[in-house]
Amino acid sequence: MDQELEPVVGNINIKKRTITKKTPNQARGGSNSVNNLSFSTRYTNSFSNSTIPSSFIKRPANIRRQIKRSRWNLVYLIRRINWLHTTIILFLPIVGSIVSLLFQVPITENTLRFTIFYYFLTSLCVTSGYHRLWAHRSFEATKVLSLIYAVFGAATGLGSIKKWVARHRAHHRYTDTERDPHNARRSLIYSHMGWMIFKPNLKISSSITELLKSDDLSNDAIINWQEQNYIILFVLTSMIIPAAVAGYFWNDYKGGLLYSGIIRCMLNQQTSFTGNSLCHYVGTQPYDDKKTPRNNWFLTFLTFGEGFQNFHHNFPNDYRIGIHWYEFDLTRFQIEILYKIGLIKSIKKNTNDAINQCIIQQNQKILDRHRAKLNWGVPIKELPIISENEFKRLVKTSSRALLIISGVVHDVTPIINTHPGGSQLVRASIGKDATTAFEGGVYAHSNAAHNLLATMRVAIIYGFHIQNPSNQLKIATIRNSPSATAGAA
Ligand SMILES: [Zn+2]
Ligand SMILES: [Zn+2]
Repeated sequence: MDQELEPVVGNINIKKRTITKKTPNQARGGSNSVNNLSFSTRYTNSFSNSTIPSSFIKRPANIRRQIKRSRWNLVYLIRRINWLHTTIILFLPIVGSIVSLLFQVPITENTLRFTIFYYFLTSLCVTSGYHRLWAHRSFEATKVLSLIYAVFGAATGLGSIKKWVARHRAHHRYTDTERDPHNARRSLIYSHMGWMIFKPNLKISSSITELLKSDDLSNDAIINWQEQNYIILFVLTSMIIPAAVAGYFWNDYKGGLLYSGIIRCMLNQQTSFTGNSLCHYVGTQPYDDKKTPRNNWFLTFLTFGEGFQNFHHNFPNDYRIGIHWYEFDLTRFQIEILYKIGLIKSIKKNTNDAINQCIIQQNQKILDRHRAKLNWGVPIKELPIISENEFKRLVKTSSRALLIISGVVHDVTPIINTHPGGSQLVRASIGKDATTAFEGGVYAHSNAAHNLLATMRVAIIYGFHIQNPSNQLKIATIRNSPSATAGAA
């Protein structure tokens, strides 16, 4: 084999020398010498040098094109499917729905009541237990409550606590980036279910793997117990218990399995997914609009209070997600009741100051955006500085109506004939300091008048604004400048 490799390796060395002489752009794939290298020679090169991983060797452009095309192949898509997740979140509900329609399994009153109760119980185990207790540690629960959350949280088919928490922490840490497991910027469908159906890419899986090693997850006995017995718990709580309860108490095994088990499980999943998808697409952003999370008052009814994602992403360790009395956060109400009866030991919440700071900052940002769209005149800092003598010379020599207000020279020519107080007053102030008259000596002008005046400013009088820090720098610069004495008009 060595004999076969030798000439090839020698050939590659020659090629490598050729590549190093090319520009980086040519070496990226435009160069013929690169394209001429066969895949086998490159593979042989990496094989011959154990210090260079094969993944570091760049594939020729034709191979890259083939791989790109193959990504859209059915075979490639099928290979990317996570079959366990797909079975639980897609096939099982579809089969359940077909069976209930095909065999016309009726839903009895007792089964309906039990399905609603079981849906609320299992959903709260995820929103309260998986999410606010384990992912964010926003409260401290007793062992009994933690155990209930762990057992019945498994009935939703959303995965074990450990994996769910690691994925969710990755979502918070890397929101909207390619490391976010359900990155809303990829698409609505992807952030809803696509991320569960397809295997995560390397960046996402490495961020999740890193978070799976968190001490609080590894050292929690209930989390570890649930992780080891997850599949058994899932089958038991999502199918066997609902069927057994409905069958034993009112002889409806089929209805219990289909409606309280499979269909209820699908509703758990869809409402949970909605928090990751639609709540990052539709709604308001009163706390921060840098990322996609939004507050949605309607979706919060469906998601047991998880619809206020904009608040939650800013204050993830707060046990509340809806903070006002009119924001329906069922999980919060449940936590408060359990806190009162002693099943929850302590709860965490942020101060009103911290919350209001974010609201004010966001409002300010919106105001600034609106402000930036309007004409506020040339900023004071950008105006040229002229001396009083220069101003007087300009008044005499130019045809413009120039006057001074608060140390700033204004060209009021456009309003001289339309001034509401009469043109006489304006004409009388030309070439003078009209500050007193403008600021109340004659008439205290409105905001609108101040704004209009700002659009007419043309220069600053040297020395007038020495007390204004924003102008000190410019004046100091002019003092040091050899051309300062000549004025800056
Ligand atoms: Zn989110
Ligand atoms: Zn969260």
